[in-house]
Amino acid sequence: MTMPDSSTISPDTIVAFISDILERRGADSYLGEAVTMSEHMLQGAQLAEQAGANDDLVAAALLHDIGHYTNEFPENAMEKGTDNRHEEAGAAVIAPYFPALVTDCVRWHVDAKRYLCATDPQYFDRLSAASVHTLKLQGGPMSDEEVAAFRKQPHLDAIIQVRKWDEAGKVPSTPTPPSRTTHRCCSGSSTGTRRSDAETRIETRISTP
Ligand code: FE
Repeated sequence: MTMPDSSTISPDTIVAFISDILERRGADSYLGEAVTMSEHMLQGAQLAEQAGANDDLVAAALLHDIGHYTNEFPENAMEKGTDNRHEEAGAAVIAPYFPALVTDCVRWHVDAKRYLCATDPQYFDRLSAASVHTLKLQGGPMSDEEVAAFRKQPHLDAIIQVRKWDEAGKVPSTPTPPSRTTHRCCSGSSTGTRRSDAETRIETRISTP
């Protein structure tokens, strides 16, 4: 595939742009896990599809770690990012093209782990060794105050569900056939305000490298 010009990313080209990143860099290692980045992202999307999730949730499961590739996006796409945390950066680069539910799942997938470790006694046992290590770096389980605040997330159920697919999508040698992922993309108005009625459904096949 010819690499899309990153300076002209639009709702029409964002899926091809992301597909190209996965094709070129999907074999990157995933933070000490036994799967590659594309295996992990596609396993998450596959788990969502197998669960009968809607398009937005499948897209969120696929894209939750897109923040590890933000150097592929034009620099101005990062202007809204507040720091270098991959979840913030990932949400910032896809925000112009995807609904708030998708970007919220990306933005909060790390905090969702901290939330689940604080509220679900069995959840910690499901973490991989690498995820236990990063949990410490990410602040450990949430405090009671943080849990109370996190419960107010408007897309809490979706965020939690995507986090569980994230955790489950780390199984080596799991076949991930090309995942047909339908994205509901939104285009922003000239003032930067999302036009909720300007949605275009596009389909693509994102193939493993
Ligand atoms: Fe992940």
